[in-house]
Amino acid sequence: MLDADLTTAPNRGVEEDLFRQLFRRHSSIMLLIDPATGIIVDANPAAIAFYGYPHSLIRGMHISKVNTQPGHEIRSGMHEALDDQRKFFIFRHRLASGDMRTVEVHSSAIDIGNRPLLFSIVFDVTERERVHDSLRLASLVYQKSSEAMSVIDSNGIIVNINPAFTEITGYTEAQAIGRNIRILESPRERPDAFTRIGQAMARNGRWQGQLWCRRKCGQDFLLSLKLNSIYQPDGKIQCNVGLFSDITKKHETDELVWRQANFDTLTGLPNRSMFHDRLQQAMFKANRGRQQVALLFLDLDFFKEVNDTLGHSMGDRLLQEAARRVRSCVRETDTVARLGGDEFTVILEELSDTRSVERAAGDILQALAEPFHLGTEQVYISASIGITFYPADGRETDTLLKNADQAMYASKAQGRNRYSYFTTSMQEAAQMRKRLVTDLRIALHEKQFRVYYQPIIDLTSGRICKAEALIRWQHPVRGLISPAEFIPVAEETGMIVELGEWIFRQAARQVGAWRLRHDPAFQISVNVSPVQLQSEGINHESWLGCLESLQLPGQSVVVEITEGMLMDSSRGVSSQLLRFRDNGVQAALDDFGTGYSSLSYLKKFDIDYIKIDKSFVQNLSPGSDDMALCDAIIVMAHKLGIKVVAEGVETESQRRLLAASKCDFAQGYLFSRPVPAEEFEHLF
Ligand code: C2E
Ligand code: CA
Ligand code: CA
Repeated sequence: MLDADLTTAPNRGVEEDLFRQLFRRHSSIMLLIDPATGIIVDANPAAIAFYGYPHSLIRGMHISKVNTQPGHEIRSGMHEALDDQRKFFIFRHRLASGDMRTVEVHSSAIDIGNRPLLFSIVFDVTERERVHDSLRLASLVYQKSSEAMSVIDSNGIIVNINPAFTEITGYTEAQAIGRNIRILESPRERPDAFTRIGQAMARNGRWQGQLWCRRKCGQDFLLSLKLNSIYQPDGKIQCNVGLFSDITKKHETDELVWRQANFDTLTGLPNRSMFHDRLQQAMFKANRGRQQVALLFLDLDFFKEVNDTLGHSMGDRLLQEAARRVRSCVRETDTVARLGGDEFTVILEELSDTRSVERAAGDILQALAEPFHLGTEQVYISASIGITFYPADGRETDTLLKNADQAMYASKAQGRNRYSYFTTSMQEAAQMRKRLVTDLRIALHEKQFRVYYQPIIDLTSGRICKAEALIRWQHPVRGLISPAEFIPVAEETGMIVELGEWIFRQAARQVGAWRLRHDPAFQISVNVSPVQLQSEGINHESWLGCLESLQLPGQSVVVEITEGMLMDSSRGVSSQLLRFRDNGVQAALDDFGTGYSSLSYLKKFDIDYIKIDKSFVQNLSPGSDDMALCDAIIVMAHKLGIKVVAEGVETESQRRLLAASKCDFAQGYLFSRPVPAEEFEHLF
């Protein structure tokens, strides 16, 4: 009815009245616009309320005052509306307050009093558009996200997934939707992992954590997962939404970093830091079970020699093999660690008796004594082991390590290739050594050292023709300390370099004086420690310069070295010795007969003297083994053009036997003990 009235021409008056009523009363926002000018001809009360302008102001206002669209778009829009080309437009309208609203404008052409007007109904769709926008955005995020998403129903069935889910898991929508989420289960995870997560979800409505899963291709991956339940208004679970990302790579790098921080790259054994952790754990466990822990400190003997002669890569291979052998001697649950260099530690746990420790130590020694096949070389080494117990010997990791280290030193001192237990006397000795180190530092500056000289006699003439310089330490409290006690400490601390230099200068000055006053061919021999012959030890310029400044020829000094140094085939030693020889300084091989006593070394290093060790001289009697040995050494040396000095000659009979064997020189208490220089003067 109404429709007919509105559209039938003869009822125009009624029509206009109806329109007017509608325009006034209807709650929709309505505008009448003159399409020719764009002027708002009228606005209904709803429009006035919406735009916030008084009626007097909005009437006659240009439409561009509210419509923010560019002018030409507004104009073309009005034309389209007039021609009935478009049903509605989406515009942004500005209100009197300055607020912007998104509006949907439905316009149509009408005639009022033969005047063509544009009738617009305006719908405020700001809210609706905002929701749409956020939904569009959400869907975009969902689709474009690198984080995988899955919607799972309360039975674990996959309802929806996004492209990232497919990318990470390998399952397409078609392959995943409708299947249980357990298709991702991996045997790398504990078997009840999914069940536990399900229980947690039921309890808390959420779960977060890391989980190993399996891709469609069978590859395992670690994911970081966030699960949340979405509830219906009645409180029932509508679905569960899972968000996850693949953190396998990160996990792998984290693990690599962790491995590098805790394991030795060469041998794969735990390193020092891991060792400390393990020892700490072992101690905790032992406390609970009232058990003991044994700590073994192991140092390879002669490893340096292998490294120096065969090179570092062979040294590395030896360490790897040694690590493997040590590992094979202990239980899976025990720890073998590498502290660095050729030092290893073994933690033996859950000990019921100490015999098993002895067995393990014995096995390790035996395993390491087997030859090592390194390329074409066959190498023999051994190990020195120190053993200490928790809690009997100490309650701190550091103390235990120190104890085991000291016990290992005792094994070295007793001739290597053995194990020693830590004892308190060892600790006392270690404390003494520590005090000695501090005292030694002071001693050099406080001039507590003296050089004593012991005569060396020419056995044919009976004359004193040489002397050996021997150091003495007059300790302010302890009195005279034997070099046998402090030289090793000076060697370990490197102080021997400075000390040796000082001794050399004393001896050089002394030989100069005696050459001038007593014998122009007089020689003083100086003991040189292996440490001094290593790189950065002796400063040749300084030693030879010292002789030069005293106008002394090289021949005035002899350096006494031990065989061990010659065995140490690192290039440093031989070149150092050759530098001396090139300057006329002679070399004597000390303590001959106690070491390897190798002839080839004598020739190779151009040795001038060998000194038969006093242990042979002391037991000399006609027909004895030692007599035969001395004879053989003398004959052999003479054949090689080397002179022989017999050490530790204490009796007339020893002197006579040696002279009869054509030994060249003798040294010993029979002639004199080592004495200060002033006293030595009287011996001439
Ligand atoms: P060494 O080089 O074998 O020195 C000989 C040692 O034998 C000296 O002991 C000497 O006093 C001792 N001796 C000499 N004649 C006899 C004897 O008839 N019977 C006995 N039983 N012993 C005799 P000392 O002075 O106590 O030195 C011990 C070791 O300390 C030396 O053995 C040497 O290896 C080292 N040493 C001594 N002075 C120095 C030094 O200035 N520098 C270095 N690097 N080492 C030194
Ligand atoms: Ca000597
Ligand atoms: Ca000697």
